Order: sequence, then structure tokens, then C-alpha cells
Amino acid sequence: FRTWETTKVRTTCPHCGTGCQVDLLVKNNTIVGAEPANGAANRNLLCVKGKFASYKFVASGDRLDTPLIKRNGQFEKATWDEALSLIASRFGALKATYGGSSLAGFSCSRSTNEDNYVFQKMMRTAFGTNHVDNCARVCHSATVHGLAQTLGSGAMTNTIADITQDVDTILLIGSNTTEAHPVIGSQIRQAVQNGTKLVVIDPRKIDLARHAELHVQAKAGTNVALINGLMHIIIENGWADDAFIAKRTEGFEEMKALVADYTPEKVAKICEIDPADLIKAAELYAKADKAPIIYCLGVTEHSTGTEGVMSMSNLAMLVGKLGRPGCGVNPLRGQNNVQGACDMGCSPFDFPGYQKINQPGVVEKFERAWATDLNPNVGLTSTQVLPAAIKGDIKGLYIFGEDPIVTDPDISHVRKALENLDFLVVQELFMTETAEYADVVLPGISFAEKDGTFTNTERRIQRVRQAVQPRGGAREDYRIFCEVATRMGYPMAYPSASQIMDEIASVVPTFAGVNFKRLEAIEGLQWPCRSQDDPGTPIMHVGEFSRGKGLFMAIPYKPAKELPDDAYPYLLSTGRMLYHYNTRAMTKRTAGINQLAPHSYIEMNTQNANEMGIKDGDKVRVYSRRGTIETYAAVGDQVLPDAVFMTFHFPDGNVNEITNSVCDDIAIIPEYKVCAVAIEPV
Ligand code: SF4
Repeated sequence: FRTWETTKVRTTCPHCGTGCQVDLLVKNNTIVGAEPANGAANRNLLCVKGKFASYKFVASGDRLDTPLIKRNGQFEKATWDEALSLIASRFGALKATYGGSSLAGFSCSRSTNEDNYVFQKMMRTAFGTNHVDNCARVCHSATVHGLAQTLGSGAMTNTIADITQDVDTILLIGSNTTEAHPVIGSQIRQAVQNGTKLVVIDPRKIDLARHAELHVQAKAGTNVALINGLMHIIIENGWADDAFIAKRTEGFEEMKALVADYTPEKVAKICEIDPADLIKAAELYAKADKAPIIYCLGVTEHSTGTEGVMSMSNLAMLVGKLGRPGCGVNPLRGQNNVQGACDMGCSPFDFPGYQKINQPGVVEKFERAWATDLNPNVGLTSTQVLPAAIKGDIKGLYIFGEDPIVTDPDISHVRKALENLDFLVVQELFMTETAEYADVVLPGISFAEKDGTFTNTERRIQRVRQAVQPRGGAREDYRIFCEVATRMGYPMAYPSASQIMDEIASVVPTFAGVNFKRLEAIEGLQWPCRSQDDPGTPIMHVGEFSRGKGLFMAIPYKPAKELPDDAYPYLLSTGRMLYHYNTRAMTKRTAGINQLAPHSYIEMNTQNANEMGIKDGDKVRVYSRRGTIETYAAVGDQVLPDAVFMTFHFPDGNVNEITNSVCDDIAIIPEYKVCAVAIEPV
């Protein structure tokens, strides 16, 4: 790695789930730049985060480079042997006293498939627990559960290129694509320029709404009613695909009977929209030949998130827009490898490859593969682990590359949970807000210092290649897990990430044809990929659904759990901004990005601001039943009167002090998108 020549290392962007291919420019073991590469998902495009914020954090001076042990409330540097021995003895003692189910692990959706596979294997084998989860729990777990139930597979059905090129209409629901998945946003804008009609359903006037044929600005939390209304109109007008419904689906009559009640007038009242817009949206979508649904967290992060996702597949099945090019149900996954973390079994319900813990024979299969007895009980989700820690049922927690003190809703309850643990290990790149609570902090390594794979939102498994040597004493993450597992009595070792993928292929049928040699092709491989001859699956559910017949669900609309009232009169929604990525642990270490977006803000409508005497840029206090924060007003017409919006990137003025931790009953995903708040000038 010591060379004065600049070399290029092709890898995958470490930010959002688009999976852009990027060439890192490396000189003297330092990354000095990033250039777009011609990947299948990005076609020579990169956004501001990929271009400028994908590498500066790697060489940041405040990277963790040695293990730390907290003694008398202070972190002290420790050797790897000291730290690993302490971890094994403390987790081992808790397991011996309270059982494996007193331990839990949160894995890292930013890290590789190989790291995630080994992490969940360590938790299930050495720790004896199935309480293992990843951040999909708080973003797209509703997709995993909802699409798995209705279609048989909880993943994007088509490819990014397929849904943004040569399509007639794009139905975009609850996705601020320009800011959350900027390169896909650019491709949608390009499609519109080439004649595609865009229908945006979103409570905010997002960038893509300006490019849309129609913007339906429905109130946050009303998706299920809105989709039922669209289906009512489609059935009434004879626009449904009767042949597709008869041949490929079940449950249609129950769904039809339910949506008969969702007249345009009734739905318009619930969603606070014009019924004519609903009719126009239904016609634009149903009558188009090629028309994909693209959605994101505006659909999933609700107390009815899974039902919202099932509504997406209901709608697509009704018009026969599944299993063919230019169509499908297409969730945009948030983090670079959140699809992969789910695929690799970082879930309390599933072993790798969505092989269900409670399905006959699955536990036995993994007991044979991993040569040990396994816990046969479904585990707790991350959103259940935290309340269980407050109750004292969870005693020890291993957090790999997650920062729940910033990202989880109602932070006061996260603080209580972490403070109540007997033992907390955090494995990280930086001393994060969550790491401050740890008993032991371990320094992991970044994407640019390791080999492996990420799986992007379109199920495309792509290579991550080492560009520079790890800093200081930081160690490769999967090797740390192997050390911990071995010291806890389950010997584990892998010579390379490639050999981990070989093991994955041997236990996950949908990855059976995946190996590093094949992945050297820049296009990657899209799962399912069941054999060495299988080219992968760009479009799912062709001919038949993964579950056989597609399942219609009859889903009545239920309002959000906390709505505005006299004490808290504004409806708060949350989301991402273009410049920063999640907790900013990576993006805030790029100076230019930080200057462009230095602090949190709250979008509020001019009418409300005038009523309160608040001007654009003024400091305001925002409070809910859970807490109070101070931030800056961004006044305009981005949101409707009585609605407000905040991003979740900033620890100062962190919106998650006031969001609601109430969850959906099926996926146990929190309702980030709707809660009630009050605002006053400071
Ligand atoms: Fe990276 Fe996403 Fe931007 Fe692509 S769109 S460069 S993956 S942050």
C-alpha cells in the first residue's frame, strides 16, 4: 500500500442502498479522491455523499485505534487480549447465570455480508441467543415481513435500471428519492425528461413533486386508506387485470369487499386531498403498461407499516404489474448493506436466507452445519430488546456499528435501557454517543480497509475491496467476532472473506451460486442465484410468486397512534436530508458537507409561523409527550399547515428525543413518521 503512484480501487459506496460503484483513488496508503464507476445501479453517477463523503472519514484523526475498557467511569486503553478476555468472561458469566436469552446483539447494516453472517453466527452459537437484529428493524422490517407474506420474498422485485428506463408511469410513494437515494432520484428525473409520467404521493413538497404529473399531498399516516381508495377506483372502472388475478393470486374477493367501502370521497376526507387527484392517480397507474411502484420509509415507519407494505403488493397485483419488466413493488432500502444484513440472518426470526427459526427442520439444519446445539426459540427484535433491558430481562448487549442513542425513537427510553445493562460492548469506528455508554469499546475497520460484499436495494451482491491498510490497532470485524466466539467456547476462524461467502453459499439456497470469483464481474449477482450456472434474478415472481400464488390482504385503515390535539397541535414527520447520512458519523467528518448542513431544523408552513411570530432561521422549542428540543425554523410551503418535518441526523436538537416509540404489531417497527408536537419561539 506504500506507493507514490495514484492507484484506483473499485468498490461500493458505503452510504445508501443504491449501491453505486466507485473508484477510490489511493496514494501512499491514503484515499485522496473518489470517482464514479460504471456500475449497474449508478451508470457513472455519484451523489455528493459518494463523491466527497465516501472516504474522508477513513483517515479521520479521531478514529478508534485501540480497545478501551471503562474503569471507574473512565475509558482506559487496553490490549486486545485484555479486552477480549473481559468480554468473553462477562458475557460467559451472564450466560451461565441467566441463560443465553439474557444476551442480545445488534448487527451493522453498514458492514459487509461476511461480517454480518459471522456476527449472527457468533450470537446464535457462542452466546446461545436468537436476540439478534439489525437496523432494518427501524426502517424496512415492514417490507421484509409484508412482502414475504404477500409475495413470498421481502425484497425489491425489479432492478433500478428496469424501473427508471423506458417506463410509462412511476408511482412514487413515501420516498424523498432525491435526498435519500440521490442517484436513483436523478434517474427518475431523467425518465421524466424522456416522457415517463411521475405520480408522487407524499405529505411534503419534495423535489420530485416539482417534476411530477401529479402530486397527491396526502396527510402522513393515511397510506392504507389511500391505496384502498386507488383500488376501489380501479375495480369500479374495470381497470383491474382479471386474468392475472384469477391465474396468479388468492384472497381477491375479501380484499374487493373491503375496498368497496373506500369511496374517493371518504378517502379524500381521511387523506385531506382532492378526490379528483385520487381518480387521476389511479388512472395514470392502472392504464399504463409499464408502471413500477417505488416506495420507502414513508410507507414503512408507521404503526401500520407492514399493512402499508401489503397494500403496495395488493395494488400491483390488482393491475397485474408484477413479474414483468418495468413494473413491480420496489422498496428502496436505506443503508448500503441493510438488504444484506437481513439476508445474512441478522434477524430474531430468521437464520441466513430467511430460513425461519420456527419452520420444521431449520434449527436442525443449522445445528448440523454449525456443529452445535442452537436455541430453538424466536428471539426479540431490537425494539423489544430495549424495553426488556429496562425490565432487567436483557443483561448483556453487543452493538456492532449502530448508534441507537441517536437513531432510535424516544431516546430517553434508550438511555434507560443502556444504563440498566450489566455489560455493554460497542464495536465502532468512532467514539459515538452510544459507545460512551459501553463497558468495552472495540475498534473495527471501515469499508475501505476490508474485503467483502454489500447487497444493494435491488438484491445485487457487489464487491467491497480493500483500498488501504487498517489504522493503528483496529482489527477486521469478523476476526474480532471469531476471537470472541472462540474464547466463549465455540471455536471459529476464517482465512478470508471469500471463504465466509463460500460457507454462506453452502447454507443459503438463494446464494448457492455466489462466490468471489463470479463477483469479480462489475455487475455483481442478484439473488436468488441458486447454482454456478444461474446468472441471478433481475426480475422476481416471473411465472409464479415465491410463495406460489400472490396473496391479497383485506386491510382496513387505522389512524396513527398519536395524532395532534389541543396540547400538541402539530403532526411531526421525520426523514433524511441530501448532505448527511444517518447519524453523520461519516459525513460530519467531511468539512464541506458540514458547512452546507451544520445543524438540525424544523420545516413549518408559513401560515403557522406567522401565527406564532416565527421567522425563517429563528430558534424554536419543539416538545412532545416524550421530551423537548431546540432547533431552527425553516419556514415555507414544503409542508402543509399544521404539519412539520425534521431530519434525524443531528445529536443536538435530535428529533428522536421527541419521536414516538410505539410500534407496528407485525414487524415491530416504530412510528417515526407521525407524532404530535407543540412549538414555541425561544
Ligand atoms: Fe452513495 Fe447512495 Fe450517493 Fe450512490 S446515491 S453515491 S450509493 S450515497
